[in-house]
Amino acid sequence: MARRKIPLRRCIGCGQRQPKQSMIRVVKSPDDTLSVDASGKKSGRGCYLCPDAACLTAVFSGDKLARALRMGTIDHQMKATLKQELVELIENDVDEARR
Ligand SMILES: [Zn+2]
Repeated sequence: MARRKIPLRRCIGCGQRQPKQSMIRVVKSPDDTLSVDASGKKSGRGCYLCPDAACLTAVFSGDKLARALRMGTIDHQMKATLKQELVELIENDVDEARR
């Protein structure tokens, strides 16, 4: 029986390792812009989090994001925009699961 290896990534919110495909990737582009990487293929330094509101809160409550992405500080406005994008993404995921 062939065993397929599932790539795991550590969530920066809860610290648990989860299958990469089920996670949300946030990527920092070379010009220090943060964005949600829905395709998982954008280049740049990325980090992962579970599509979970608790993890999202954990990520944004401290400097976890800045540390994971090796950034000094993250622009307040950019952080707020990113958080909003993630919140919407997670809510959509939940809606799909309910269908
Ligand atoms: Zn998590």
